[in-house]
Amino acid sequence: NQGAKGSDLQKQGNRDGMEVKKLQDFALWYTQLMTKAELIEYYDVAGCYILRPWAWSMWESVKEWFDGEIKKLGVENACFPLFVSSSRLSVEKDHVEGFSPEVAWVTRSGNHDLEEPIAIRPTSETIMYPQYAKWIRSHRDLPLKLNQWTNVVRWEFKHPTPFIRSREFFWQEGHTAFATLEEAAAEVLVILSLYQQIYEYLLAVPVIRGFKSEGEKFAGGLYTTTVEAFIPPNGRAVQAATSHCLGQNFGKMFDISFDDGSGKKQYVWQNSWGCTTRSLGVMCMVHGDDSGLVLPPRVAPIQVIIIPILGGKVAETEANMVMAKVDEIVSALKLAGIRVKVEDRKDKSPGWKFNHWELKGVPLRIEIGPRDVQNEQFVCVTRLNKEKTTVALADLATMIPGMLDGIHNAMLRGAFEEYRSRITVGRTWAEFASGLEKANVILVPWCTDSECEESAKKRSGAKEASVSSSENSAESSSDARALSGAAKTLCIPLEEELERFGLPTSLDPSDSCFACARPATKWTLWGRSY
Ligand code: AMP
Repeated sequence: NQGAKGSDLQKQGNRDGMEVKKLQDFALWYTQLMTKAELIEYYDVAGCYILRPWAWSMWESVKEWFDGEIKKLGVENACFPLFVSSSRLSVEKDHVEGFSPEVAWVTRSGNHDLEEPIAIRPTSETIMYPQYAKWIRSHRDLPLKLNQWTNVVRWEFKHPTPFIRSREFFWQEGHTAFATLEEAAAEVLVILSLYQQIYEYLLAVPVIRGFKSEGEKFAGGLYTTTVEAFIPPNGRAVQAATSHCLGQNFGKMFDISFDDGSGKKQYVWQNSWGCTTRSLGVMCMVHGDDSGLVLPPRVAPIQVIIIPILGGKVAETEANMVMAKVDEIVSALKLAGIRVKVEDRKDKSPGWKFNHWELKGVPLRIEIGPRDVQNEQFVCVTRLNKEKTTVALADLATMIPGMLDGIHNAMLRGAFEEYRSRITVGRTWAEFASGLEKANVILVPWCTDSECEESAKKRSGAKEASVSSSENSAESSSDARALSGAAKTLCIPLEEELERFGLPTSLDPSDSCFACARPATKWTLWGRSY
């Protein structure tokens, strides 16, 4: 009995689907999304995950785009070892202090203890730079621009979250050396803009570009720039990627110097910059909904899923006719450069297939049955808003690319508006605390002093930060961790970013720091963060 079988499959589909709503229990929702959408599989080493093809393919899209962009800047790819000796790792004091709590060590091989334990790279400055000292001799050897696509290990102690905070993660790390600070500083911002584009152009996730405070900058660096994203359901910000100017610090430690042409020895100016698989987690958190993933078209492994509607009553000739039309659609879409797949499994009902591909977040679904073929049309369903449109077959190749761009734009616009609506502008501690209470991020005038930052951090984590309890939807999320914990500086946004978000850009001389009341120097974004 076809009907009974269909409804059994439908039930099966429901069990396979999301069982918790995004705003009901955000943490559980995310965990379910990860495995049900076939992004990851859990593993028996905490904080390490198996990245399945659905996730890896999206990482490949990010990689392909970014790799092309940095090659245009003259960056070359290389590959350095996974291991680092303890003597190398500890050359730069601040750097090793910053990373040592998270470094994983190999102490044994087989039955023997190693004479000297070796570390697994948490980042590769200390692996690469002794080599830079060898390769760079004259100003003609500059700039040196290398990048590698690798995995690194940071033995994080905070609660691991797939993609967002894992112990092994995948990234690119760029390491460049220049003759002057001006060149290095210019590159820092060029890379930062590329990171913004990874998020906004590929993943449809808005980010804010800015500078990290002294307290939050990269260990051993001169200054750090960042793109900061926002996760609306729990009100947490997330450091989405960082581009560091290392200054001459590592150059001096590793003796990376060059003859400037007049016989004088100069130290190089260096940058390092990294973006990780965290980007995919941010995208899933921002765009996913109660039915599962919602993928931005530019990285979706499949952009269009075609589901032929062939019930039990459809005659073989009609079915053949539908499948012949499906073949034509596939060819036309492939020709238009679209990633398309036909879901033609015989043992699954159309309902199961709809749910399955919605869960996996495919941006567009084409449904086509015998009557559609007769009418020279098909039905197109947009994953983002589940809207159905009937499209003439003749318009296929012109309509679909435009629809995909439209989906990207709508996703980015929606997320941008939501981010903006969750930025509280405050001038006093009370306004800051009230913004935090709403699970928002807060833009405040700040003195930029590190001691002030530390004390404000502590104060924000204490009970007194709460000014009132209200019942907004974000707060009713059961991700309790989101509503507790200290806030910190996220970034000092670039002025153009403040403008883009419609936020105040300048401070009056009379403006005082929201936390310590001394004169304020920068509008600074604060919040709770992953
Ligand atoms: P860093 O070299 O420390 O600046 O790290 C580069 C980027 O890696 C950061 O900006 C984060 O976006 C990301 N990141 C840091 N820790 C993790 C982690 N445990 N898992 C995934 N991504 C991470």
